[in-house]
Amino acid sequence: MSFDISPLSESENLKLLELSANAPGKPVSVSNWSKTFSCTPKLLLAPRTENDVIWIINFARNRNLKVKPVGSKLSPSDISCTDGIMISMENFNRVLQVDKRNCTITVESGVPLSELHKILEFWGLALSSIGSISLQTICGAISTATHGTGVNYGCFSSIVLDLVLIDGMGIRHYCSENENKDLFDAARCSLGALGIITQVTIQCEPSFRLKAVQIPKNLDEILDNLHETVTSAEHVRFWWFPYTNDTVLWRANRTTDPKEPLKESFVVDKLYGFHYYQFQLLLSRMSPDRIPTITKEHYNARFNKKIEWVDDSYNVFNMDCLFPQYVDEWAIPIQNTANALRFLRKWINEQQKIKDGVRVHFPVEVRFVKADDVWLSPCYQQTVCYIGVIMYRPYRLPVPYKKYWRAYEDIMRTFGGRPHWAKAHKMYYFEFEKQIPRFNDFQAIREICDPSGLFVNDYVKRHILPPSQDDSSDSMPVEQISFKMSKI
Ligand SMILES: Cc1cc2nc3c(=O)[nH]c(=O)nc-3n(C[C@H](O)[C@H](O)[C@H](O)COP(=O)(O)OP(=O)(O)OC[C@H]3O[C@@H](n4cnc5c(N)ncnc54)[C@H](O)[C@@H]3O)c2cc1C
Repeated sequence: MSFDISPLSESENLKLLELSANAPGKPVSVSNWSKTFSCTPKLLLAPRTENDVIWIINFARNRNLKVKPVGSKLSPSDISCTDGIMISMENFNRVLQVDKRNCTITVESGVPLSELHKILEFWGLALSSIGSISLQTICGAISTATHGTGVNYGCFSSIVLDLVLIDGMGIRHYCSENENKDLFDAARCSLGALGIITQVTIQCEPSFRLKAVQIPKNLDEILDNLHETVTSAEHVRFWWFPYTNDTVLWRANRTTDPKEPLKESFVVDKLYGFHYYQFQLLLSRMSPDRIPTITKEHYNARFNKKIEWVDDSYNVFNMDCLFPQYVDEWAIPIQNTANALRFLRKWINEQQKIKDGVRVHFPVEVRFVKADDVWLSPCYQQTVCYIGVIMYRPYRLPVPYKKYWRAYEDIMRTFGGRPHWAKAHKMYYFEFEKQIPRFNDFQAIREICDPSGLFVNDYVKRHILPPSQDDSSDSMPVEQISFKMSKI
């Protein structure tokens, strides 16, 4: 949908031209990394200063348009979608301050993690724990409580020391542990629903190398000795291969050993592990019964051996996420890990016995994250285990996943689960009220920061706002929305 610019004053026209991230007046379609969600904002603007942000907010309010700040637009849900004004933070990419002694850095909110690693490296610093990729912006990662793994390492929201937010009235707020504490606790994971974060100070540590050791391991052995396993290294994760008792256990510790980067084989990892796997998944859309055999073959060919490597921390944390995918990931209290995984295994195995039962792709990813005090963080007051499930979309084609997600989410619910905010999920207002102790406090701050609902998009409306009786979209299931938005 294009935006009719005729009722604008000349100065507004000029300002919009200056701020436009695309040809003004031309419709632009924006989609996420997996191409599972897309939207057509009326305007895509890329401000350079806080005054620009305030101007956009006032402009939007005067014209009754919604506003959505975005980072790299990667999120596997419609959390970053809008049909109003999309604010790309790509020009907010400056370093504002570095405190080497205390290992902190203040940056603008749109700095991509991949660039942040290089900047930090220059100053002899590094992020303590990151996830599988570094394409996110710092505030995209913070706003959804993005996480890595390690029981003594928190999510991105938990490393924030202070931030600046411009609210729905165009008012600039500074907040930290000592100043505007409630806003600070709400804004550190706020889904873009409180306002636009323009800058942030985060805690880092001296730069470090990691030594990763990856070994094949039996799932039951891990589950029977879970505490020993998760505390056996600084960073621990494992990938379980459904239909088998096989896992790959990845452990990493800080080291002063010289670099010895991971060596990838073109034939085994690229040709077989990427291209042939994608082709096999394409064929398995017609014959899903092949999926357990494909899983076993890949485990034996690629993962059934020990490997070790040493590299800069971010290179070791990051991995190849292959091709577009549907993902779902919830956090449960860490003590429920073994039972939840055993239930999931039981369900997957029972489905295998049914002729047209669900067949699922490998892997199931298991990670651990330290408790924090961020109101909307899934780790609020609990050290958690994140269990992630995946269904790949070979050549971007759809595959059935909804029944798998339903069963998975039911299991996660049973074990006290809270969903990852960035990933499409089916938890709504009343459940959040019970599951997240400070959910209502967040609502109260949201009403102060955004009294006119400027930052409310479909995702926020569906998951965060109390349902209104006259609006059936409040309980609209995720797949209907994904179908509508992705046209697959
Ligand atoms: C391939 C892949 C791998 C991933 N791996 C992991 C992983 O290992 N661990 C994990 O936890 N997650 C992972 N994710 C999820 C990812 O970290 C989140 O989706 C993250 O939010 C994406 O960052 P972004 O910059 O693209 O944010 P966007 O998708 O653009 O935005 C996400 C949210 O942040 C808000 N936001 C962004 N910038 C601002 C701002 N300046 N002010 C206010 N609000 C803002 C948006 O409004 C939106 O609500 C992965 C995603 C993909 C696609």
